[in-house]
Amino acid sequence: ELLPWQAGVRAQFPQLMAHPGMAYLDSAATSQKPQAVLDAVLDYLTTGNANAARGTYPWANRTTDRIVRASDQVRSFLGDRSGHSGVHFVSGTTEGLRAVARDWLAPRLRDGDEIIVPFADHSANIVPWLEAASGARVEVRAMPYDEAHDYDTDRLRRMVGPRTRLIAATHVHHVYGNDMNIHRLRPAVGPSVAICLDAAQGFGHVPLSVAPLDVDFVVFSGHKAMALPGIGAIWAANERGPAFQPAGWRGSPNTSGIVSLAAAMDWLDRTGLDRIARWSRALGARLTDGLDRLDSYEVLGCQSSLSAASAVQRRQGIVTFRHREISSNDLGFILESDGLLVRADGHCQGDQGEKTSSVRVSLHAYTAVEEVDRLLDALAALDH
Ligand code: PMP
Repeated sequence: ELLPWQAGVRAQFPQLMAHPGMAYLDSAATSQKPQAVLDAVLDYLTTGNANAARGTYPWANRTTDRIVRASDQVRSFLGDRSGHSGVHFVSGTTEGLRAVARDWLAPRLRDGDEIIVPFADHSANIVPWLEAASGARVEVRAMPYDEAHDYDTDRLRRMVGPRTRLIAATHVHHVYGNDMNIHRLRPAVGPSVAICLDAAQGFGHVPLSVAPLDVDFVVFSGHKAMALPGIGAIWAANERGPAFQPAGWRGSPNTSGIVSLAAAMDWLDRTGLDRIARWSRALGARLTDGLDRLDSYEVLGCQSSLSAASAVQRRQGIVTFRHREISSNDLGFILESDGLLVRADGHCQGDQGEKTSSVRVSLHAYTAVEEVDRLLDALAALDH
């Protein structure tokens, strides 16, 4: 499965080509940018730059058209043909989740309502919900997990009651790398509970189709999916009009960011999300197999209750591990001095904190097999 189709992909990333000695293994933090995205932004800023919906001259109108087209592109990228969804551009997942919590949920909450929050996920998907709940006497309940770090939808089903207004969930976990079986959420909670999905680690990595999920909100960041930093979106199933407008939405939009996101979705479509997802799964499997052969390392996450094969299927290009003796910070430092750029810390995880201080390796379309093998060699040298 590890075929060299990918050499052509890698060659499109100028920063990687300029630094052949560096193995960039931190794509879950942010992705590298393909030339096509950089070209689209430069082209816009040198031939089409104008503010949107502010003028009647052609540059302004074309910018407005680009934004409308980019919203439609987000819809089709997410497999949405409903005709009643809204797309709101925001700076990224953190702002997007905060906007859903503050501008959509909070005004709708009444004393006695309940919300369900995923305390073992990213803090960006925890804090805004607690803030939204703080104004009224709202009961905040903890999303249940099973031992494989999936949502425990049997327990979730029993927790949901007539006053449950919203559950917050995550598409792909940023530490364990597992897709969180989000298709099981709607059947578990029934038709009237809003579901908000943090797709920061899934968007642009794994195909995500909203129609069968029947979720209410999907929030993501462009910068983790080949676009520029500072752009992301909220896809809202039923909020096309002014019923829901995140604060600040009426200001000047981040037009070059939106242009970059549109170009990134084009690039992802051309390259093929299926192929990208298969590639990072295969590399992740190579890495976990290699780690399993070394005594000093413990891989965190989704294998515990799964067969090895299905754990690999579920791990979407993120592998997190610990050395039994060397601290994760030291390990990260050692790897870095070999040009292996990984992430070493507690990864902004809600309720785990220090407990999960670990090294995270994250892969993408441009990651080379040799980089994973170089990492494994470096890790093997520290094995005893
Ligand atoms: N949710 C998850 C699962 C993430 O991995 C991240 C990024 N670390 C975020 C939210 C926040 O994304 P951003 O920093 O782009 O707002």
